[in-house]
Amino acid sequence: MTQSSCGSCQDKTCSASRRQQDESDADFEDRRKLQSHLCRIRHKVVVMSGKGGVGKSTVAVNLAVALMLAGKRVGLLDVDIHGPSVPTMLGLENETVHSSEDELQPVELGDLKVMSIGFLLKHQDDAVIWRGPRKMSVIKQFLKDVAWGDLDFLIIDAPPGTGDEPLSVCQLIDPLDGAVIVTTPQKVAAVDVRKSITFCRQLHVPVLGVVENMSGFACPKCGEVTPIFRSNGGKDLALEMGVPFLGKIPLDPQIGEACDAGYAYLHHFSGTPTAEAMRGIIQPILELDQVGI
Ligand code: ADP
Repeated sequence: MTQSSCGSCQDKTCSASRRQQDESDADFEDRRKLQSHLCRIRHKVVVMSGKGGVGKSTVAVNLAVALMLAGKRVGLLDVDIHGPSVPTMLGLENETVHSSEDELQPVELGDLKVMSIGFLLKHQDDAVIWRGPRKMSVIKQFLKDVAWGDLDFLIIDAPPGTGDEPLSVCQLIDPLDGAVIVTTPQKVAAVDVRKSITFCRQLHVPVLGVVENMSGFACPKCGEVTPIFRSNGGKDLALEMGVPFLGKIPLDPQIGEACDAGYAYLHHFSGTPTAEAMRGIIQPILELDQVGI
């Protein structure tokens, strides 16, 4: 579907075709505007994690870049309001957002469209101190007022845990294609993943799979992967909870280097075994488009 407004849409089954009980004119219009934007995005995938520092943003950024390199039209939305790291990881810290015709223009990096609260802060060190409703309202604005245009995929980088931001994403985007859950191999990290899976189940969001990041150390000289944490935490958990396991990414110093320097790892180190592992992980996500779901 590529219509730009709800008024021209023939889909009478869409929830935005009808006013809800007790809905004001303004709220109804708002919901139609949101839906008209979302209708132009074929697949929406949220990247979540049980805890911080496990590489969720790294996976979100490289997933978006991998899809773009596969020829897809991709948007990357960073809803980590308190700790946006996407601008830094893509070398976009000095970018600001421009608006035209009541819409915010996403920052473009090649064919990738990016939006983050980080672009709206005056200084990189500014802290956002907002409560739930304000966060929900800015996430809604990111979906409704950003000129995403026609996209094959919108990848959403949510903050760790099961708080306001992932909840807003799941409530505002209906339907979401699903969630990718990132963890590390240790048992303590995997325990938090259970909560993410339970969260998705309660909200009827499909779990597309679990990624086990920092799974072993990839030697920069010979490429051999040595396990350093208890291995298979993510894999065992995926099996136990009956969700797909998408694969493992080793700890690779070049990933940290790429994130700090602001360039996408997959783009710059495309020939390494780690890049190969990342490409394997995106395959099922890529197939969402091929099967035309
Ligand atoms: P999260 O979003 O879960 O908080 P990040 O994606 O911001 O985590 O990653 C935290 C740090 O770990 C970043 O500095 C990133 O470069 C680094 N990192 C993530 N995954 C890997 C990896 N597989 N190998 C090396 N460094 C990694």
